[in-house]
Amino acid sequence: MCPTLSRENYFLTVINEAKRHEMQSGGLEQEMREVLLTLAESVRSNQVISRNLLHRVNQIFEAYQAIRLKVSLVSKMEDLFVEEHKTERAQRQIVLHTEFVDKPDQLKRRYMEAIISLLEAIEKNPSLNLLTCIHCGDWYIPYPRAKVAKFCSSNCRNRHHYILRKTKDAGSDGKASGDELMKMK
Ligand SMILES: [Zn+2]
Repeated sequence: MCPTLSRENYFLTVINEAKRHEMQSGGLEQEMREVLLTLAESVRSNQVISRNLLHRVNQIFEAYQAIRLKVSLVSKMEDLFVEEHKTERAQRQIVLHTEFVDKPDQLKRRYMEAIISLLEAIEKNPSLNLLTCIHCGDWYIPYPRAKVAKFCSSNCRNRHHYILRKTKDAGSDGKASGDELMKMK
C-alpha cells in the first residue's frame, strides 16, 4: 500500500503564485522553485524528463526530509472504541498515512508539496497534459476531451475575445458591432 503524499494538483496553486514569492538567492527554496518549474515545463512541452532533473529532485529530497509516517485510528471507530471498549475489530481500524513535518505556510514546505503533487500526477498519468492560458498566463490541466484548449477558464476566454474584438473594431473604420459587444458582457 502506498499512501498519497500530497493534495491533488496542489502544484498548480504554487506555480501560479510563484512569481510573487520572495526568496533568498541560492537557497533551497529557490532550487525547489526552479525544479518545479522545469518539471512543469517539460510536461507542457511534452519532453522526456531528464536524468539530470530527476537527480536534482532527489537531491532536494535528500536535503529536506519533509514527510514522516503516521498511523491513526479511523475516526469513527476511534469514538466507538473510547465509548464502549468495543470488539477487537473496532480497535484494528487503522490508517497508515503521512504528514508534513513543517507548517503549511512555510515556503519550503509548500514547494515540497507542489513538487510531490506534480510527481504524483505524472506517476498516475504518464500522458498528463499541462498548458498555460494565453490570456492570463496561469497553468492549468485541460479537460481531457477539449479539442483546442487555450484558456484556463471560460472567464479568460470571454475576456480575451472581448478585447480582441474591441481592438479589431478600433482598428477598422469604427464599425462598432454593438450586438457582439453586448454578447461578451
Ligand atoms: Zn486564464
